[in-house]
Amino acid sequence: MNAPRHNISRPIQGIRRLSDAAANRIAAGEVVERPASAVKELVENAVDAGATRIDVTIGDGGKTLIRVSDNGSGIAQAELALALERHATSKIDGEDLVNIRSFGFRGEALPSIASVARLTLISRQQGGEAWEINVAAGQAAPSRPASRAPGTTVEVRDLFYATPARLKFLRSDRSETQAIGEVMRRLAMAEPGITFTLSDDSRTMFRADAAQGDLFDARLARARTILGADFTENAVAIDADREGLRLEGHIGLPTVSRGAAVAQHIMVNGRPVRDRLLIGALRAAYSDFLSRDRHPMAALFLTCPPDRVDVNVHPAKAEVRFREPGNVRGLIISAIRHTLAQNGHRATSTITENALGAFRSETPAPSGRTWTVPRPSGQAVQAALGAQAPVGFDEQSPGWTSARVETEISEQEAAETTALPLGAARAQLHENYILAQTDDGVVLIDQHAAHERLAFQRLKAQMAENGVARQALLIPEIVELGTDAARVLEQTEALLELGLAIEPFGPGAVAVREVPALLGQPDAAALLRDVADEIADLGSSDAVRARLDAVLSRIACHGSVRSGRRLTGPEMNALLREMEATPHSSTCNHGRPTWVKLSLADLEKLFGRR
Ligand code: ADP
Ligand code: MG
Repeated sequence: MNAPRHNISRPIQGIRRLSDAAANRIAAGEVVERPASAVKELVENAVDAGATRIDVTIGDGGKTLIRVSDNGSGIAQAELALALERHATSKIDGEDLVNIRSFGFRGEALPSIASVARLTLISRQQGGEAWEINVAAGQAAPSRPASRAPGTTVEVRDLFYATPARLKFLRSDRSETQAIGEVMRRLAMAEPGITFTLSDDSRTMFRADAAQGDLFDARLARARTILGADFTENAVAIDADREGLRLEGHIGLPTVSRGAAVAQHIMVNGRPVRDRLLIGALRAAYSDFLSRDRHPMAALFLTCPPDRVDVNVHPAKAEVRFREPGNVRGLIISAIRHTLAQNGHRATSTITENALGAFRSETPAPSGRTWTVPRPSGQAVQAALGAQAPVGFDEQSPGWTSARVETEISEQEAAETTALPLGAARAQLHENYILAQTDDGVVLIDQHAAHERLAFQRLKAQMAENGVARQALLIPEIVELGTDAARVLEQTEALLELGLAIEPFGPGAVAVREVPALLGQPDAAALLRDVADEIADLGSSDAVRARLDAVLSRIACHGSVRSGRRLTGPEMNALLREMEATPHSSTCNHGRPTWVKLSLADLEKLFGRR
C-alpha cells in the first residue's frame, strides 16, 4: 500500500545548509518546550557551575520573565559569547560520551533559549570583573561591564516572542508556574546541599534551604521539605544492590499514598528522571498494597555504572535507556517489597494523629475543677469485658474458619499476649472492630480489612506452592459478561491457577464451575464480574499474566468476612496472631491500614492528663 503523501510543497531548489539562527530555533523546539524547560536548563547550568545557592524569579508563569541567579564559578569575559554558541560546552571534551558527570553536555540550552527570547547573561568569576552580554532573537551585542557578586545571572524575557506559533501553545500562567515549581522540586530533591528559591514579584513560592549532615541525613531533610513530614514520618529507608546497581533513598508506607504520581522522585546517577520503566517498576512493587487509583510516594536514588545507562536519549534528558532493563526493574521491585515486608507491622503515625484529632471531645473540658472518678480495678474491668465478650459464632456463616482456636485462653496466656504487637483481644465493637490491649496502649483492628489481607497472603502462598486449591460449586454459576466474556475466557488457564475454573456458556456468557476453596462460598457471579473488570483494566493477556497478583487481590476481597460477623474471643485472638505472623498485614490490599494504635500516652493526652 502506498503511504499517504506528505503535504510538503517543494519550492526550494537543491539542498542548502540552514543558518545558525534557524538551526538554533529548531533545536529550541526540543530543548525548550515551555517556560519550565528553560528553568530546568538554567538551574542545571547553575548546579553544574558548583553553586550552593540558586534563586529563580519568574513573571507571568515564566512567559515574560525567568531570572536564574547563582553563586557558582561564573564565566570568563572572553567566553561569554562562546557560551551562547551552539554545541559550545565546557563540560565534555567530545571524546568520552560515557562518563558524563554534569547535567549539561550538549551545549544547546543557552543558544536555543537565546534564539527564541531576549536573553541577558551577567557573570563574574572569583577575582574577576562582572560582564554582561545581551542577545535578542539570536543576535548578540558586544559584552559590556556590569556589576554583581561572583556567580552568574541569566535573565530571559519574552520567551517565544520570536516563535509566535509556540507562544500560542502555552497554558495559563498558573499552570506554567506549577510546572516550574515541579521542575524546581525535582532538582532540589536531587541536590540537597544547595539552597533553592522560587519567587514571583509578590512572594516566594518555594524555598529549600541547604540540608546539613551526611548525604543520607541531607536527603531525608530535603525529602521532608519537598514531600512533607507526612512522608518522612511514614517512610522507610531503602538500600539495596544487585549486580553493580545500587538503590538508595526512602519509600512511603502504603498508607501515605497519593491520588496521582506526583510524589515520586527518581534520580539516576544524580539526575532526576521521569522514566516509564522506573515509574512502572515502582508501581509494580506496590501493586499488592495499593489500589489502582493510589500512587506510592518515594525519593529513590539509583546508581549505575555510566556505561550501562544512556542519558542522551532525549534533548531534555528526562528519559534514560538501560542496557539491562530487566535487572533495574528487578532490583526496584524486590528491594521495595522486601523493605515493606520488614516494616509490615508499623502503623502510620499520621493516621493515629488524625484519629486522635477526631477523638478529642467536642465539649471543652470543664476548667478549674477536678473530677474524681472511682476507678475500677483491672480485674473488675477484665471480668466485665469477659462477660460481654461476644459469643454465638454462627457456624453457617461463610468465610474465615481456618483461623479458629477452640480453647479458652488462660490468664497467664492473656498476660503474655499483651506483650505482642497487636496485644490481647478484649472486645468486638460494631461487629467489625476488634479492641485489643497491649502493654503500652490499645489497638483497634478493622476485622474486614485484616481478613482481606490474610486471605490474599494465603492465596499467594498457595499459588506459589502448587496452585490455589479449588472447590467445585454444586451448581455452576452462569454469568453474563457481554463483550467482556471473550477477554475473560482468553485467561481461562491463568484463572485456573488462581483457583477459578470457568468455561464458555453460549454467546457473551461464562460458567463458573470451581472457586478458590479458601473463599468458602463466595458470590461467584460478583467475583467473576470483578475479575473481568480487573482484566479489562490490565489490557493485554501478557499484562494479565504479569499481574496475576492484581487479579488475586480482587479475588481475595470476596473471601473476606464482611463486617457484621461476630467473632468469639479465641477467634479474635487467633486473627491477631495470624496478622502478626503474616507479612504486609498492617495494610489491606488497597493500602488502607488494617489497624491503628493509641499508646497510653496518646490516651492520656486525649483526657487532658498530659
Ligand atoms: P551545556 O550546559 O550543555 O554545556 P549550555 O548551553 O547550557 O550547554 O551552556 C553552555 C556553557 O555555558 C556551559 O558549558 C558553561 O560553561 C557555561 N554556563 C552556562 N550557564 C552557566 C552558569 N550558570 N555558570 C557558569 N557557567 C555557565
Ligand atoms: Mg546546560
